[in-house]
Amino acid sequence: MVMAQSAPLVQESAKRMASRDAEIRNAVAKMPRTRLSVCQRKQRFASEAEALAAALAASIDLRAYACDRCGRYHLTSRLKGKRRLPPS
Ligand SMILES: [Zn+2]
Repeated sequence: MVMAQSAPLVQESAKRMASRDAEIRNAVAKMPRTRLSVCQRKQRFASEAEALAAALAASIDLRAYACDRCGRYHLTSRLKGKRRLPPS
């Protein structure tokens, strides 16, 4: 009779997990994408144009992005899944 007792419990727990899962996804969506530690150690640019100019001047491929921590711009070398800067 273990199954008869555990089935409703399993369903209940699955329901709870699903709602918890949605809660976590919701919280993650609201969280700033940029980690504070990353923001703090990076150079900040007041405008995207300034950041792009610095990116183009660098010897490696860099991308400018708006930081949702400080509201300014940083450079990143992570290009995976992102559009590359047009060659100058
Ligand atoms: Zn920042």
